Amino acid sequence: MSKHTYPDPDISVETEAYWQAANDGKLLVKKCDACGKTHFYPRSICPCCFSNETSWMEASGKGHVYSYSVMRRAKQPYAIAYVRLEEDVTMLTNLVEADLDELRVEMPVEVTFRKSESGQALPVFRPLKD
Ligand SMILES: [Zn+2]
Repeated sequence: MSKHTYPDPDISVETEAYWQAANDGKLLVKKCDACGKTHFYPRSICPCCFSNETSWMEASGKGHVYSYSVMRRAKQPYAIAYVRLEEDVTMLTNLVEADLDELRVEMPVEVTFRKSESGQALPVFRPLKD
């Protein structure tokens, strides 16, 4: 079916654990121990209060589409979206396994993973089936 190729992510010291967890099928977010807020992309300094006391937590992997756009000019049309997780962070990601004409804002989605060109697992989202 879809032969969309995903470029390799930039992996830094701050995001290494995040990408490692993705290879294990887990989605991590960072939570600040000082102010209690979650953030994304993972950083070692909390963007809300600048504390360096941040910890990893495993996300539920569930959220909803905050906004999206469909790339119809690509050889294989695909959708990118901002997904708002239950953990209160927003991720820029790809939507997969979805009928591109049936996407809508607020649609419930769940995480799944796709491999990048060099085999790194990337968190992407698909419609949540109920
Ligand atoms: Zn904080």
